[in-house]
Amino acid sequence: MNTSRSERLFEKSRERIPGGVNSPVRAFGSVGRTPLFIDHAKGSHITDVDGNTFVDYVCSWGPGILGHAHPEVTEAVQKACADGLTYGAPTEKEWILAELIHEAMPSVEKVRLVSSGTEAVMSAIRVARGYTGRDLIIKFKGNYHGHSDGLLVKAGSAALTTAVPDSSGVPVSYTKNTLVALYNDRDSVRELMECYPDQVAAIIVEPVAANMGVVLPEEGFLQFLREITQQYGTLLIFDEVITGFRLGMGGAQEYYGVKPDMTTLGKIVGGGMPMAAYGGRAEIMDMVSPVGPVYQAGTLSGNPIATTAGITTLEILKQHPEYYTEIEKKAKRLAEAFAKRAELKKEAICVNQTGSLLCAFFTVGPVRDYDSATASDTKAYADYFGRMLEQGVYVAPSQFEAMFVSAAHTNAEIEETCRAIMK
Ligand SMILES: *Cc1c(COP(=O)(O)O)cnc(C)c1O
Repeated sequence: MNTSRSERLFEKSRERIPGGVNSPVRAFGSVGRTPLFIDHAKGSHITDVDGNTFVDYVCSWGPGILGHAHPEVTEAVQKACADGLTYGAPTEKEWILAELIHEAMPSVEKVRLVSSGTEAVMSAIRVARGYTGRDLIIKFKGNYHGHSDGLLVKAGSAALTTAVPDSSGVPVSYTKNTLVALYNDRDSVRELMECYPDQVAAIIVEPVAANMGVVLPEEGFLQFLREITQQYGTLLIFDEVITGFRLGMGGAQEYYGVKPDMTTLGKIVGGGMPMAAYGGRAEIMDMVSPVGPVYQAGTLSGNPIATTAGITTLEILKQHPEYYTEIEKKAKRLAEAFAKRAELKKEAICVNQTGSLLCAFFTVGPVRDYDSATASDTKAYADYFGRMLEQGVYVAPSQFEAMFVSAAHTNAEIEETCRAIMK
């Protein structure tokens, strides 16, 4: 595989852009390779600047549920561009999108549009604090909620300690209100709640953890979070930036039948454009300025081009409920191929899958939390990544990311990928 143009571009980019990339995982650091610079993408395929074409299972890390450059979305966006790129004034499209979101997720009675998942989560937490008059939040080790200061915390050596920042540049004082519990571990949550009974504004959780590979909520875990938050007057926030419109129109809250107080959305909701959203019960969302005292604003919030891409994507998904059953089936096929490989080659592979999200961990498993996920053999993952690339399949350049299936992946491509997995 010739990658000379990508290599040259990477060299030049590194001189002007830190690490040559605008988001760290793109650097291919954990698989020890040069990142591929992309020229274009269409449907299930992505093509780099050297003309190599791959079946793409990164799908821009989640937004690409319809595949790349879907003709209806592209056309709608092109049309919208002709009417102006931004006005800084309200439009009908913002209302249409808000209605679509509410229809899909009835728990989101009111919603604010923002420009990134990071912004959505940061704002939702501010609102939860304003609404409850409390400062503390609980997050789970290994859950990712964007890169705002107070959330750049994964660890804490024990559940009952206050968290230390994950990143340099974040003052410890910024994370002292963030408590860390263990995913799928009810006792760790219970202990924190008992320790700070009237102080926790919100528990925020990825209802399916999809930023440490893919880790499913165990039976009853989300219901438990619902009950304990109600018991303590704490808000439950589902970070559905990945799962929203991915596990079904109603996201994880519909899939698992648990209704949160607040929801954050991103990725699919913007149809490939920089857009995200946060919302929840009306009385909570009415805390937001100009109605209430919680300030939150954005020059490009509800941008007409981004809302057009979002609306068109959601309309297509709404018209094609069969997409969800199809992509889930395809993800199951891929999961079976990993399991078969593990059996035939006697390799330690544990596959987690729900809906169209899956991850093959190179470890015996089961993988049910951060510690069992990080027990994976990342060198084995890097080898797998290289093998797949050589066979024309583009998967995430990191063990701790999901494999995304889109409606554009054909059954023939899935079978081809299954064969590549087995090789
Ligand atoms: C991607 C992601 C975010 C951050 O969204 P950005 O648009 O990258 O800022 C937040 N939460 C979850 C669950 C995510 O997967």
